[in-house]
Amino acid sequence: METFIMDEWKFIFKVAIIGDSGVGKSSLVQRFTQGEVLQLDQAHSTESIDFSDFSVKTFQVEDETVKLHIWDNAGQGRLHSISPSFYLNADALILVYDVTRQPTFDYLLHWMTEMYDKGFYDEFNMLVLVGNKCDKVDKIIPTSYGELVANYNNMSHFLEISARDSENVAMLFNDVAAMLIWQKLRMSELRRRETKSFIGVGRLRKWLCCF
Ligand code: GDP
Ligand code: MG
Repeated sequence: METFIMDEWKFIFKVAIIGDSGVGKSSLVQRFTQGEVLQLDQAHSTESIDFSDFSVKTFQVEDETVKLHIWDNAGQGRLHSISPSFYLNADALILVYDVTRQPTFDYLLHWMTEMYDKGFYDEFNMLVLVGNKCDKVDKIIPTSYGELVANYNNMSHFLEISARDSENVAMLFNDVAAMLIWQKLRMSELRRRETKSFIGVGRLRKWLCCF
C-alpha cells in the first residue's frame, strides 16, 4: 500500500522505457508499481494501444523520498515512430531486451539510433540497459554480451532482471533513482559554486573600480 502522501517527495524524475514488443516493458512497470506481472492475454491487449502508458511510483531511496514518472511506450512495434513527447525531459531511459530472443538484442542499436535522432541523448541523460526474463531456462544472450554493449556505449548501468519473479526489479529502479539523485545534487552543487565564484568576481571588480 502507498504510504506517502502527495507532495511529500523531494525529488521527481521522468524515466522512459523502450525496447521491442514483448520484451516485458509493461510487465516490468506493472511489477514495480503494483507488484504484479501481466499475463499473456492482458499483455497482448497493450500491444494495440498506440500511445505511451504513464505510471507513477513514490518510494524511498535511503533517506530521500523520490517520485518516478515512468513512461512505457505501449503498443509500439519497430515500425511505429515514438512521439517526441516520450523523450521530452526524460531524466533516464531504460532500454530493454529479452535474454531469450536474439533479435531483441540485435535491435538495440536501432533503438539507440532512434533515441539519438529524437535528440534524447546528451551528457546529462542517463541510459540504462536491461536484459529481462532471466528466469527463463532458454536464455541465449550471455550476461557478458549485455555488459559489453552497456560499456561500449557508455551506459550508466546494466542489469539482468525478471519482471516475472521480481528479480532485480526493485534494485533497478532504486539504482536509477539513486544515480539521478546523486547527479542532481552534484549539478546543484556545481551551480552553487559557479554562482559563488561569479559573485566573487563581481565583488572583486567593484573593489578594483575604487582605485
Ligand atoms: P512489452 O510488449 O514489452 O510491454 O511486453 P509485456 O510486458 O507485454 O510482456 C510480454 C510477455 O512476456 C507477456 O506474456 C509477459 O507475461 C511475459 N513476460 C514479461 N516479463 C517476463 C519475465 O521476466 N519472465 C517471463 N518468463 N515472462 C515475462
Ligand atoms: Mg507493453
